[in-house]
Amino acid sequence: MTDRRSLLGALAALPFLAAAAPSGRFAVNFTPAEWQRRLGKDAYEVLREEATERPFTSPLNKEKRAGIFACRGCALPLFSSAHKFESGTGWPSFWQPINKAAIGTTVDRSYFMVRTEVHCSRCGGHQGHVFDDGPKPTGLRYCINGLALQFIPGKVA
Ligand SMILES: [Zn+2]
Repeated sequence: MTDRRSLLGALAALPFLAAAAPSGRFAVNFTPAEWQRRLGKDAYEVLREEATERPFTSPLNKEKRAGIFACRGCALPLFSSAHKFESGTGWPSFWQPINKAAIGTTVDRSYFMVRTEVHCSRCGGHQGHVFDDGPKPTGLRYCINGLALQFIPGKVA
């Protein structure tokens, strides 16, 4: 426990690191080197370092088939085609996650903005952000990096 406390102390002393994806408290957990090997460079930078892919670059933007959008890091289903919409932002957008337990959120104060960061609840992999300018019925817009997702076509409930 002292290790964890000193780690938290170190993080508190380095506020610019505070937005980095938390590790050590998720069911699926790998070292940075293992994640890098599993994900490849681009997905690693998004999922584990909170990078944002360039807009209009993900093939999942135009994905219109029925199916599940699962975490690229651990395959947990995160979003459904039933909740996807065309936001025009250049990133895959959803008005709700597949269920509330699938995702976690943190407050992201990077880039002089206050945003709500969205990550996978099982591996902590960064997905994107959620904004309150989405369509009905939730009014939410989950703005998600396609690199953080894998699409599994199929019937959805
Ligand atoms: Zn995950």
